[in-house]
Amino acid sequence: MPLRNFIKNYTIAAVLAFISLACVASGGDYVPENNSPNVTTTSEVIVIGAGIAGLTAGYELQLKNIDFIILEATDRFGGRLKKDTEFTDVPIDLGAEWIHTASNPKELLASFISDKAAKDIDVELIKYLPTNEFKFKNTTWYDFVADNLAQAIAKNIIYNSPVTHINYSSDTVVVKAAERNYTAKKVLVTVPLGVLKAGIISFEPELSREKQDAIASIVFPQGLKAFLKFSSNFYPELYEDDIDNVNNGEVIEWTEYSYFDATLGKGSDENILGVLVVRTNDPLAQQQSDEVIVAQILEDLDQKFNGRATATFKAAIVENWTTNPYVRGTYSSPSFDKANYSSASEEEWEATNVALRESLAAPVNSKVYFAGEATSLTLGSSANEAALSAISALTSMGF
Ligand SMILES: Cc1cc2nc3c(=O)[nH]c(=O)nc-3n(C[C@H](O)[C@H](O)[C@H](O)COP(=O)(O)OP(=O)(O)OC[C@H]3O[C@@H](n4cnc5c(N)ncnc54)[C@H](O)[C@@H]3O)c2cc1C
Repeated sequence: MPLRNFIKNYTIAAVLAFISLACVASGGDYVPENNSPNVTTTSEVIVIGAGIAGLTAGYELQLKNIDFIILEATDRFGGRLKKDTEFTDVPIDLGAEWIHTASNPKELLASFISDKAAKDIDVELIKYLPTNEFKFKNTTWYDFVADNLAQAIAKNIIYNSPVTHINYSSDTVVVKAAERNYTAKKVLVTVPLGVLKAGIISFEPELSREKQDAIASIVFPQGLKAFLKFSSNFYPELYEDDIDNVNNGEVIEWTEYSYFDATLGKGSDENILGVLVVRTNDPLAQQQSDEVIVAQILEDLDQKFNGRATATFKAAIVENWTTNPYVRGTYSSPSFDKANYSSASEEEWEATNVALRESLAAPVNSKVYFAGEATSLTLGSSANEAALSAISALTSMGF
């Protein structure tokens, strides 16, 4: 994939597991002691966000017998890990899809689950040759975290609880979510950079100027994934393009997009083309309907493949990550100072970007900690980097 920021460069047991997961996803094992508004619930650690970073943190805290809860804005866990099982005959990753490594993918998957080694990772993977990386064969990234992280900590996740305020002005941190107050000694914020940028969570006292600058400076491009079903396969295994808008020699905005054979190696009987679009500037993205988005993709494909897209088109699904209010974009990307981008050496560019992420990740008053993909000092924006950032944050927290 043209991922500029991914280094510039699943009997009875099954039924029981299903029932357990159904409880998780419907939001529901955790019952606060008192359901009336404004009552305070106390735990040692509050994790904000049940994406892979928050789930990894929760799983690790449970292994260490630390009392914790996870507050999640939506009615589901997974965040930018999401799947569709209805569009075609194999499950589809609507968010993260690739396992970004050329070798040892099971080692990568075990790297953020401290009680598991590569040999314990019981999942079938395929080598995705066009990018020399890996994918899940008949499962998804979402299934992986469901089976390996979320199921074990289901009772600790509180759904439909968007956090709006974090007060860390006294010894105990007070977190406000859905008209309830939760208190803890330490809080781990794992919400997407897009949510921090939008100011959905206010901090008391305000975050330092340095952290606010990091939140503003690290790029969080907009984008989407779409999957189109055709009656025949007229497209290559992978087509990628990168469009830079250059003004006076400086890149002022960019778009990366790729078309990929989404069912390649998955044993599907259908022709499904995946589309990934990531772009820094798209003022119209929030107003575009899925129909308009699909029409634009078909138009582009027709131009490239002699009208064969429209002629063989059957159906499409779109996952617009820009319009998701609790994500607001795709994944972080190294920022560039417009004035110096072209002249900065690779080392200067990397140092600037690592420093910004250090500022974003820096703990505040030994009480409020930050994790999630945008805090990864490797400048990776992958699901596994997000998970590892949670392990780093727990180390900083003393766990
Ligand atoms: C289109 C797309 C394609 C991608 N492709 C790949 C890929 O192929 N391979 C790969 O490794 N990675 C890929 N990624 C990146 C990967 O998905 C992310 O790095 C990873 O999922 C981020 O995990 P996270 O826990 O940091 O954040 P998230 O998954 O975003 O989790 C954050 C959670 O916080 C919740 N939240 C937000 N606001 C609040 C609030 N106020 N209160 C409480 N909860 C809140 C959200 O609902 C969400 O559940 C892709 C991402 C996108 C969008």
